[in-house]
Amino acid sequence: MKRSSKAVHRLSRRSFLSDIGGGTVAVAVFGLAACSTPESEGSANAGTTTPGTVGTAPELEPGQSESGQATSDAEVTPTETAPAGPLAWERVNLGFVSAYVLARGSELAIVDTGTSGSEGEILRAVEALGGTWSDVNHVVATHAHGDHVGSIAEVMAAAGQSTGYAGVDDLGAINAGRDLVGLRDGDEVFGMRIVSSPGHTAGSISVFDEASGLLIAGDALNVEAGAVTGPNPGFSADVDLGNMSVQRLAELQFETLLVGHGEPVVGGAGEAVVALAASL
Ligand SMILES: [Zn+2]
Repeated sequence: MKRSSKAVHRLSRRSFLSDIGGGTVAVAVFGLAACSTPESEGSANAGTTTPGTVGTAPELEPGQSESGQATSDAEVTPTETAPAGPLAWERVNLGFVSAYVLARGSELAIVDTGTSGSEGEILRAVEALGGTWSDVNHVVATHAHGDHVGSIAEVMAAAGQSTGYAGVDDLGAINAGRDLVGLRDGDEVFGMRIVSSPGHTAGSISVFDEASGLLIAGDALNVEAGAVTGPNPGFSADVDLGNMSVQRLAELQFETLLVGHGEPVVGGAGEAVVALAASL
């Protein structure tokens, strides 16, 4: 794959629940090695990847940008143009936890890196999307727990030109081998919006692609037996704050939900989160 566009790392200073959380987020338990027990999810499909696509690839006409709009040198500059086009995703099913690889145009992004030793399975998902490590430009950690960042140093070493990211309040608990960019609510990576989702950890973030109706929630949400649930009380630093994050996520418009623990919800996921939020 050749890279034709450059991602935007537009880092704003807007914040959301970090204000609401106040001092309570300080009790975050970063020392947890995992945020779900291996027994809580079947491992029969461990190591497999599940493909998904969101949207349909548009036929581009001469003079059109990938966003479908007529190009204009006056209004668009490459460094301010987010990756355009439909989003495809691969689930890296590691048994009790999942990582995800996203593709848009010629760029790839990885969201979470699974447990230690998961880089081989992640590479398989990268290749399933037609790429190699050199096509991976972004590595996003939804939070600092070991079953989500266990392979981040290996992944970022393999994808040597990639930029790594995590929520600002989880940065200090992640060893990625090189510096990570701290993300706040409203920041943008890979054309997707970062939604602050604290509670499971202080710096938990979700990744939202509005155009495709796709939300990757890390452990801010779970899926158990097909039902969307909130942050796991047994593994979350501040459940009340986590439930407030569920309320925030319920305001987003999406159809597909990808979580750290549980099966993807493809279709109707937003409605399920609205129902969950109403029950809290
Ligand atoms: Zn977790």
